[in-house]
Amino acid sequence: MTAISDVRIRCGHCRAIFACPVAFRDLESLESAIAEGLQATCPSCGQVVNCTMKNMMWRNADGSDGGVSA
Ligand SMILES: [Zn+2]
Repeated sequence: MTAISDVRIRCGHCRAIFACPVAFRDLESLESAIAEGLQATCPSCGQVVNCTMKNMMWRNADGSDGGVSA
């Protein structure tokens, strides 16, 4: 299990970055949620964002960044 925290999403419509409404503690849970069609509503533009591994970012247990900001 790969521990992660501080999961964020980058909106593909307005490019705003916002916190994921669902808390994930490990990368495997995040990946399975994405595979099941995880979506979030952007608080900036109000559009629904389809979450993918290419528009999400998170903090790894060692303090480094994971995802698109890495
Ligand atoms: Zn947006």
